[in-house]
Amino acid sequence: MAEHEHVRVAVVGSGFGGLGAAVRLRREGVTDFVVLERADSVGGTWRDNSYPGCACDVPSHLYSFSFAPHPDWPRTFSGQEHIRAYLEHVTDVFRLRPHLRFNCEVKKMTWDPQGLRWDIETSSGRLTADLVVSATGPLSDPKVPDIPGLDTFPGKVFHSARWDHDYDLRGKRVAMVGTGASAIQIVPAIQPEVERLTVLQRTPPWVMPRIDRAITGPERWLHRRLPFTAQARRGLLWGIRELQVQAFTKHPDQLGVVEQLARRNMARAVKDPDLRARLTPDYRIGCKRILLSSEYYPALTRPNVDVVAGGLAEVRDSTVVAADGTRAEVDAIIFGTGFHVTDMPIADRVVGADGRTLAEVWKDGMEALRGASAAGFPNWMTIIGPNTGLGNSSMILMIESQLNYLADFVRQLDVLGGRVALDARPSSVHTWNRRVQDRMKRTVWNTGGCTSWYLDAAGRNTTIWPGTTSEFRRATRRVDLSEYTVLRAPARATAGEQDTVEAAI
Ligand SMILES: Cc1cc2nc3c(=O)[nH]c(=O)nc-3n(C[C@H](O)[C@H](O)[C@H](O)COP(=O)(O)OP(=O)(O)OC[C@H]3O[C@@H](n4cnc5c(N)ncnc54)[C@H](O)[C@@H]3O)c2cc1C
Repeated sequence: MAEHEHVRVAVVGSGFGGLGAAVRLRREGVTDFVVLERADSVGGTWRDNSYPGCACDVPSHLYSFSFAPHPDWPRTFSGQEHIRAYLEHVTDVFRLRPHLRFNCEVKKMTWDPQGLRWDIETSSGRLTADLVVSATGPLSDPKVPDIPGLDTFPGKVFHSARWDHDYDLRGKRVAMVGTGASAIQIVPAIQPEVERLTVLQRTPPWVMPRIDRAITGPERWLHRRLPFTAQARRGLLWGIRELQVQAFTKHPDQLGVVEQLARRNMARAVKDPDLRARLTPDYRIGCKRILLSSEYYPALTRPNVDVVAGGLAEVRDSTVVAADGTRAEVDAIIFGTGFHVTDMPIADRVVGADGRTLAEVWKDGMEALRGASAAGFPNWMTIIGPNTGLGNSSMILMIESQLNYLADFVRQLDVLGGRVALDARPSSVHTWNRRVQDRMKRTVWNTGGCTSWYLDAAGRNTTIWPGTTSEFRRATRRVDLSEYTVLRAPARATAGEQDTVEAAI
């Protein structure tokens, strides 16, 4: 990267969010942009999570871009390697390669109030940009809990999102820490080959069957030849999930029916009442993400599996000690313990107009106007920002809504003309966030009686969108300039003495 290169837009991250932003920028006629990626290839989540059994839990025909339909999805819930290949394909088809900068980790982004641009330090040099699109992903930095004694463990330790494919699990005694979305895919995949599998469960998840099957040749033929059939399929998958939203957001009682189905799913596979008791959650279904698997419960009943109802408390040499005192000697510990979601590392690296980092501004909880713009961080947008996560549908729908917002943001800057920046007004951010938090009060995520990664350290839900995806689509269709302060460099200012003026619209 040339020293002090200047681009119009710097996109950070090349997962669904970053690649989607790149496609959208090109479609808006913006070609002066780069995509900065710390890894050596695209894919984000689907590059980093290569653990055995990794697959999406939203059907592939919905978990893909609407503007890049893929008639050839092999399964209803396709595996990681196919989703990763899809993203490589999108990169090629939309001619994004020239924009990509790999092995380029963003270390710091600082707003320059005089130049009205971002100064970006990366692991491979420095650049400036008029606009930053931060698409670093809510689930991209693995979290490993601070466990006493872990550093003295003589065996192998790794996180599910950093799977060590050189380590042969065959015949090994393995501890699986956590029972979240990744763990329930890993457990049935590795159970047949390990000698002993100890599953350390802090809180049991609700698990529903996953109706996964190969998509047949005729179906694929139909989707290729008559694209509207793939669109209809997508529409149906989307519509069903939209109809479910009210139960999550307004009427958690209605989820009791789903809870019964989940209980039946467990009872079918788990005959031992003691094991069933350990696996039965004590909170309302939906409070934590509802997990989908038809293999998880059967795997837990195999003779080489122990389910310990207590999280990992301590490691003593090669022994893992659970919170309930259970011990097991193991050769490897696999952490399926999630990600830094409400404390995402990128927030420490963004320095706004008043010299504070985003992490400092968000110390009492993340908040951003329409999930995108934080006050005091002009011309900086985040994809999958605060309160844009979903409990039951495809994140690609939310990403595409944010791309609409990004496209309009760019258009508005063009219309305003000159050296200009948009800074979300604190009052607009506050109003938006208050409405979101008011709606959150009745949702199952806040009332269901669980703690989850949706909540931050103070118990505030700063991750989930408390509505339908179509409501969010409407809320992000256009940038409302009255929600922003327009910052302008005076037309007659000379370099070095530019003074920013605020033009309230
Ligand atoms: C195992 C797993 C399964 C999932 N399944 C589903 C599913 O079925 N349905 C669903 O809707 N969602 C699912 N998700 C959520 C998923 O994360 C999102 O759907 C989506 O992939 C996020 O895309 P993204 O581009 O925002 O983030 P990511 O895919 O995480 O991409 C972020 C990118 O930013 C890069 N990056 C981060 N920091 C920096 C930096 N400082 N400098 C440069 N680059 C940086 C990362 O290397 C990464 O490539 C799943 C998540 C996981 C972990």
